[in-house]
Amino acid sequence: MSIMFNGIGVSKGIAIGQAYVLYREQPEVREYTIDKGRIQHEIKRFHRARKQAQQQLQDIKQKIKDNVPKDITQFIDTNLLMLNDPILNEGTLKQIKQNACNAEWALQAQCDRLVKVFDEMDDPYLKTRKDDIIHVVQRIQRCLSSDADADIAEDQEHLKGRIIVADDLTPADTLLMQHQKIAGFITEYGGPLSHTAILARNLGIPAIVGVHNAKQLIQANETLILDGKQGMLIAEPDRRALTHYRSLKKDEKQRRRNLFELKNKTTITTDGHRINLYGNIDRPADVRVLRQFDHTGVGLYRTEMLFIERNENPSEEEQFDTYRRALRALKGHPLTIRTADLGADKELESTLQHGPLAHNPAMGLRAIRRCLKEPRQFLKQLRAILRVAAYGPVNMMIPMLTCVTELDQIFELIEQAKSELKGKKQRYDANLKVGAMMEVPSAALAAQTFAERLDFLSIGTNDLIQYTLALDRIDDEVSYLYNPLHPSVLKLIDIILQAGEKTGIQVSMCGEMASDPQYTRLLLGMGLKYFSVQANSLLEIKHIINNSSIEQLAPKIRALLSDAHPNDIEHKLKELNQQFN
Ligand code: PEP
Ligand code: MG
Repeated sequence: MSIMFNGIGVSKGIAIGQAYVLYREQPEVREYTIDKGRIQHEIKRFHRARKQAQQQLQDIKQKIKDNVPKDITQFIDTNLLMLNDPILNEGTLKQIKQNACNAEWALQAQCDRLVKVFDEMDDPYLKTRKDDIIHVVQRIQRCLSSDADADIAEDQEHLKGRIIVADDLTPADTLLMQHQKIAGFITEYGGPLSHTAILARNLGIPAIVGVHNAKQLIQANETLILDGKQGMLIAEPDRRALTHYRSLKKDEKQRRRNLFELKNKTTITTDGHRINLYGNIDRPADVRVLRQFDHTGVGLYRTEMLFIERNENPSEEEQFDTYRRALRALKGHPLTIRTADLGADKELESTLQHGPLAHNPAMGLRAIRRCLKEPRQFLKQLRAILRVAAYGPVNMMIPMLTCVTELDQIFELIEQAKSELKGKKQRYDANLKVGAMMEVPSAALAAQTFAERLDFLSIGTNDLIQYTLALDRIDDEVSYLYNPLHPSVLKLIDIILQAGEKTGIQVSMCGEMASDPQYTRLLLGMGLKYFSVQANSLLEIKHIINNSSIEQLAPKIRALLSDAHPNDIEHKLKELNQQFN
């Protein structure tokens, strides 16, 4: 009999294959005390296990290195770094020494302590770091219990074409399994922001997470159909379902192949409007991923990742070098560098460890507010961007502006940065273009004023929706309220686009809404001409644009905007999308 499961689809695509249920129970961690004289021995045991874990990860890295781009193997590097994390290691050693206890228990206690700190922070980025710590600790625990060989590597031959059913998977597992050509995976735990989920998307492995009790209910070798887009799994499907999904899979494969024919082709509507289609990046290495889909520019470079990964403020030189690397990789295509959007869901670990966070971090000292509060740090970034702009087409973008008074302060600091560079006789671009994200309703409502003083605007729908609908974008409990089609959100987007139209400046969109194909026609009809999207959505968005006519869409979209009910708008947009498909 068929059984259907639902979870969170984190990587789209259809997989059909036999289940491989991964039983890899963690060893039970018992606490026992040891003689004081054996403390050194226990410390040595811990170090030995850590080294063994390190060797395993290096072996995995070695095994997959020819098949996977370097920026993807960095997930293993993160785990390797975590193995040497001083807080984890020193905390464990301290426990062994102070409590004269066994290494397993000391390690577990330190891990629990770190996990608790992360849990209290309610921060999606740190949650992914939490997963890393758990994965690394589990690996060391297995080495301590001398069950070190319980690795997926054992099952090389059996994994090809299978759908893995696991409680959880580490990024290292995922990389290794991709190397072994699995068809897809489902896990009982995990969320869309985990490194494993991100990896699955980057590697194109269909995947669903959060399928509760999957391991209990699915049996080894059962046939499974996994639909990563819908977050749906069918165990023991009947013949009709199998035929249906096989044909969907075939169509999907063909569709993807066809999409690649659009690589490096012009983005232009059927009625002749050229549209600028750029990519979003977090680090210079992402340019390589972007170029797999298209040779184009970057409409959003989130520089805060450089700060977060270093866990401190980088120097001006380091920033200059990093931005320069991104610019070089783009080979003449434009790079829009966003100044650090730190705070709220993107916080430095070192800051988190010092004192309590604001009650409402999304409304606290984040993004440009924080930069203006720490002008010395901000000046370093301004100088680095001004300098790099002397080497190619670079724009600077300010996140989370709420009021024009902030603009006065920003311009003053830019002037100061310029005169400092002049004083030091350093090369910089005196005409650097400065724009701002429109992601707070107060700014959107005053978009005209901002447009008159800036070179461009970019709509950040992730935050615009958060602040307009008063929903915390990282709180699962209210995620059901997240709706780009809420009439108030659309009204604000419209105001921003009109401001661009009136002043003649460029308005782009770099929030997730721009990467979602169901909204592409709506945005085109509303007048959006600059899209900055996730690399793996780029060709799909280009396909829709190249098959749309703004002339035909505009009146239909205008009519739709007058609807007051989000469900009506959604329904009509669906109809319109079907009509043009
Ligand atoms: C946004 O808010 O839409 C955006 C692009 O910025 P971030 O997601 O980095 O806050
Ligand atoms: Mg934002």
